[in-house]
Amino acid sequence: TTFIGASFGGIAEMYAQIQKAVGATERVFELLDETPEKINTNSSVVVEKISGNVAFQNVSFSYPSRNEIQVLKDVTFTATSGQKIAIVGPSGAGKSTIASLLLRFYNIDNGEIIIDHKNINAYDLETLRGNMSIVPQDVILFGGTIKENIAYGKPDATEAEILQAAQQANALHFIESFPEKMETLVGERGIKLSGGQRQRIAIARALLKNPSILILDEATSSLDSESEKLVQEALEVLMEGRTSIIIAHRLATIRNADQILVLDNGKITEKGTHHELLNLENGIYKNLSLLQFNHN
Ligand code: ATP
Repeated sequence: TTFIGASFGGIAEMYAQIQKAVGATERVFELLDETPEKINTNSSVVVEKISGNVAFQNVSFSYPSRNEIQVLKDVTFTATSGQKIAIVGPSGAGKSTIASLLLRFYNIDNGEIIIDHKNINAYDLETLRGNMSIVPQDVILFGGTIKENIAYGKPDATEAEILQAAQQANALHFIESFPEKMETLVGERGIKLSGGQRQRIAIARALLKNPSILILDEATSSLDSESEKLVQEALEVLMEGRTSIIIAHRLATIRNADQILVLDNGKITEKGTHHELLNLENGIYKNLSLLQFNHN
């Protein structure tokens, strides 16, 4: 619990820290189950497949360790099954916190999070997290083979399924360029993969897990443009037909989102499509857009 609580850097870093902490073991998701707060677990709805309708209704939240600061204030939005929702906003606005709440790392103070028309607290954690995948900014693989890292999302996956996931994630080509291919060792003692390659392994893992809800934390540090293109393509394949919550840092990748939420200091200040938000006079999104285009 302490290393989760100690992380202030958002979901990606939290995930990375957990992965670092467990090193070569495969207990990442067991540890994810150890929530930092004692959350009420009299939850019992076990369903095979969540269809991925997500709604935040007037959600307010403070971290238990910093009770005095309200990190989310009256946050309301709806994602229907299969939609892409992008969250943008300055550092510290609360973007990763939304992702943490969706994964139910904490209980909320006010409001409701609804998944498929039921309160999030009604689901057992395994059901809930079994239907979600995260692709963090900086993917840390555990010490083991590439194959084990991909199959982590589905331990009973067949060889053919693993190959197919790697292929769809644009990862097969580089994997097969290694002498030991899928059996190549990665992690601290193994081969060093680039950031883009690690992301594609994480995408393959998520494809294999086949979740209804995806949380993507877009990388801030830019990959080289070839790798960037391959990752982006793989993400498009992964998002197809799933509800995707994208913590976005570059506006170019979210133009086609069904809804963009602008989060500022814990509050949603703008909500709409790219075009709708560009039409808001003096809008934050509009200004961000102008800035990014001037820099490109
Ligand atoms: P960034 O773009 O920098 O990742 P963000 O928009 O994702 O930022 P959050 O990580 O959600 O922002 O953080 C929102 C606020 O909550 C910040 O003030 C942060 O310091 C605080 N915070 C984040 N995690 C914790 C935690 N585990 N305990 C206490 N406060 C936290």
